[in-house]
Order: sequence, then C-alpha cells, then structure tokens
Amino acid sequence: MLNIIIFGPPGCGKGTQSSLIIEKYNLNHLSTGDVFRKNIKDESPLGKLAKKYMDQGKLVPDQVTIDMLNNEINNCNDSNGFIFDGFPRTIDQAKSLDVLLSKKGEKISLVLSLDVSENELLKRLLLRGKESGRVDDQSEEVIKNRIDIYKKQTLVLKDYYENSGHFFQINGEGAIDSITDNIFKVVDNYIE
Ligand code: ADP
Repeated sequence: MLNIIIFGPPGCGKGTQSSLIIEKYNLNHLSTGDVFRKNIKDESPLGKLAKKYMDQGKLVPDQVTIDMLNNEINNCNDSNGFIFDGFPRTIDQAKSLDVLLSKKGEKISLVLSLDVSENELLKRLLLRGKESGRVDDQSEEVIKNRIDIYKKQTLVLKDYYENSGHFFQINGEGAIDSITDNIFKVVDNYIE
C-alpha cells in the first residue's frame, strides 16, 4: 500500500494537492479537518466538542483526534492506500499513527512537506475565509494562533520524519500544476 502524509502549515495547499494525488493513485483521503467539519455540520457530539477548539484555532485534543482517525481508517473501503492530510499534528499523534498502521502490517511510505512563507499563508487563508466562509479563516488572530501552534507543536514532526529516509520537502509556492508535478515525480520515483 501507498501511505502518504501531506505535511505543512495551515494554508500550504495540503487539501488541494491531496485531491489531485488521490485521483491519480487511487488513495483514500483522510483529512482530519474535513471530518471535524462534517461532524460540526451534523451537530454530532464530536462536532460540538471539536468546534470549541477549532473556532479558536486550537488543536482538538490528541486522544479525541486519534480515536476519530482510527475509526475513519477502519471504515475505509479497499484502495491502494491512504493520504493523511492534517494528521499527525503532534508527536503523540505521529506515534499513534505508527502503531495504527503497524497493526495492519503497514507503514508510512512518504512524507511530503509543503514549504510556503508565512506572508503567503496569511494571504491565502484570509482569501479562503472570504470565499469559503470557513470560520477559522475569517480572523487574522485565529489564523496567527494556528500558525503559532503549528510552529510550537507540529513543526517538530519534521525531525521525527526527516531521518526516516522518506521525507521530501516540496516548494508549495507557484502554480498549483507545477507543485503537483513535483509531487508526482517523488511518488512515481517511490513506486518504481
Ligand atoms: P488548516 O490546515 O488550514 O489548519 P485543517 O482543516 O487541517 O485546516 O484543520 C482545521 C482545524 O481542525 C485545526 O485548526 C484544528 O483545530 C482541527 N484539527 C485538524 N486536524 C487536527 C489534528 N490532527 N489534531 C488536532 N486538531 C486538528
């Protein structure tokens, strides 16, 4: 199976690129943000809990997120593998993911890290706030909080994965197509 983590700060293009990757390689897209937003829309107990954190730009607690992801993995239909988008975001989540996958006899194949400058992130997220109505993209303060949490809690995952031999840094600025091309090159190279 092909199990890819798409990694990077809020607004780096994880969701956009994930959609293109799953189409080409027939993978299941597991976006923790999307699952939380669906739960919020459905007003489920999980959604009510997650909303309190998301609206402030804070991370949903690890155990809640890990349990949810575990469920999602188990509910997925057969495919060539998974793309993890927005997960893991903490060291504990990364360790849990290793355990979850190893129980299935699987492991992470590739970590694709998208590099985008902070100014560009802020610009993109404010625009997305206007266009999509996403609550957490509407306030500059909430966006800055998310970027701050990314730096404090998520960025350390680079060290966690960097020495694994399957970590790839990709420039996330420029035309969407050319970023996708660079990603496909890395994935094709791995498959060969
Ligand atoms: P972005 O990458 O733009 O922040 P996401 O859709 O990935 O967008 O995440 C939106 C929000 O959902 C996060 O700010 C956080 O509150 C919550 N969330 C998503 N994934 C996780 C996770 N792995 N752990 C904790 N909270 C998460």
